[in-house]
Amino acid sequence: MASRKKTTLGVVHVTATPPGWDRGVAGIRAIHKAQGWSDIGYNEIINPDGRAEIGRGKMAIGAHVAGFNSISYGLSLVGGINRDGKPDFSTISAAQLATLERRMRELTRDFPDIKWCGHRDLSPDKNGNGIIEPFEHMKACPTFDVIPWAAARGLPTADIKGTWKIVALAPNSAPVFEGPDSRTAYLQRLLTRAGYVIGPIDGIVGKKTRAATQAFQLASGLPETGALDAATVAALRNLFEASAAA
Ligand SMILES: [Zn+2]
Repeated sequence: MASRKKTTLGVVHVTATPPGWDRGVAGIRAIHKAQGWSDIGYNEIINPDGRAEIGRGKMAIGAHVAGFNSISYGLSLVGGINRDGKPDFSTISAAQLATLERRMRELTRDFPDIKWCGHRDLSPDKNGNGIIEPFEHMKACPTFDVIPWAAARGLPTADIKGTWKIVALAPNSAPVFEGPDSRTAYLQRLLTRAGYVIGPIDGIVGKKTRAATQAFQLASGLPETGALDAATVAALRNLFEASAAA
């Protein structure tokens, strides 16, 4: 598993699991693997009883926030979804929030350049790069505003605009990164989740990815270019936003 060379961003998540779900890292790993990921996406989770548990690993490059995995630590609170299936901050226990604050302080000591934010602060709606994460309720995660919460506790917080300057892709741009931590890899995962077989998720648009993209375009009534163009990315997003709302 690849390791981060720097850690400049700390991203708080919820696991988007329902009330009473309490199966720890092993359970989240099983969910993420069933969704086509190689391992649990988060570096660490905080269980409902407030117990912190290392997930993918402290220095591992996680899979928790599109475009930022190689520079960020993903810390996820187990819960986030209420009995009606809606994102709900009240599902997070006081014990979890106490541990969250403690772990954010400890991680800030371990990674002096870290700045904190919530997953939704990095929503693709904010940079227009056309990526959503398929495994959670992107717009809600982590159900509260981490930046003011962290700032009120004296923790360093992310300047999201400054962050985007470093890694954001221009809206509707062609993929410019290659490798597993890339826009292309996320789009390949979405294609895979949509049922198209593309072989290994490698972040490279090869013959299989082009063929899968053409098949998806055919099924979606789009021009069969085989390219992950803006209309195709939008159609992929719509598919998963619709299923996330269900
Ligand atoms: Zn999240």
